[in-house]
Amino acid sequence: MSMETLLEGRTLSKEILNSLESGIEKVKAALNRPPALAIINYYDDSASAVYVKRKIKVCERLGIKTDLINPGSEKGYAYFLELLKRMEGDSSIDAIMIERPLPSGYENIQTWDKFGALKDVDGLSSLSMGKLFITKSMAEIESGDFFVPCTALAVIKMIKKYSMDISGANIAVAGRSSIVGRPLAHMLTSMDATVTLCHSKTKDIVSIFKNSDIIISAVGKARWIKADMIGENCALIDVGTNMDENGKMCGDIDFEDVKDKALSITPVPGGVGPVTLACLIENVVKAAERRTR
Ligand code: NAP
Repeated sequence: MSMETLLEGRTLSKEILNSLESGIEKVKAALNRPPALAIINYYDDSASAVYVKRKIKVCERLGIKTDLINPGSEKGYAYFLELLKRMEGDSSIDAIMIERPLPSGYENIQTWDKFGALKDVDGLSSLSMGKLFITKSMAEIESGDFFVPCTALAVIKMIKKYSMDISGANIAVAGRSSIVGRPLAHMLTSMDATVTLCHSKTKDIVSIFKNSDIIISAVGKARWIKADMIGENCALIDVGTNMDENGKMCGDIDFEDVKDKALSITPVPGGVGPVTLACLIENVVKAAERRTR
């Protein structure tokens, strides 16, 4: 496979992170402190804990302050809502990231209604989601006073980086979560693609895949997409981050199996993941910059 067909994300991630320096300096000058991100993470041993550490490390390198909070599930739901309210009103915090999983029952409309849009750097609140879903174009999304879920945004940035022509293209998105598939399908539709949003109950997903110019998988099943499931000249974007039976990180797409057939493919690791991290940190700086106005 040539480098043109390997859609790696580390370069784009570095480009995004390198572009943040002046914004960080601007915030320091205006607020007399660096941009500040608070991360709520209930489970220190969850799969996301690794990514939390990575976020903190990159923030430290860039001079962004981080505060990692484990509220403790024994304190209950009311405490979580109170904590969110307090953090919303705390002028020393610019951005709030709520890591999943949350304790059972916490992910509901009541939570996302309580969370505002200004500090919501992963675009999870009802307000952020509502604003996203009433937009009709990427220009409106990019100029809006809200944030979009970072993973979905990272896929859009990869599509733009590699100048993929998606107007009128048939795109299959596998996975309909509120953090990836749904917001992504909305943005792709705004970019004039024809999107089929697939999930675990989708019938004959292979025929949908075979009719697609681009397949984006965000399912979480190690190497489930094989060469015989895709058509000719198909571009593949792999959001999946899975551990195989040997503890090796891999995507939803069987890279070795598809690499000689696919038109292009994002690797795992080194594809969408690093861009997601960069999008989050870019949003933290944007959230802090907005407070300086
Ligand atoms: P999720 O909430 O568990 O959603 C998984 C989705 O996949 C669901 O919509 C589910 O359908 C669908 N699905 C399950 N089996 C399927 C099948 N056989 N065919 C088609 N669809 C199927 O997961 P998520 O949080 O969106 O994450 C998805 C993957 O992306 C995970 O591997 C996660 O680690 C990864 N991820 C990566 C990044 C990154 O930066 N690279 C960030 C976030 C997540 P139903 O709705 O019918 O259950």
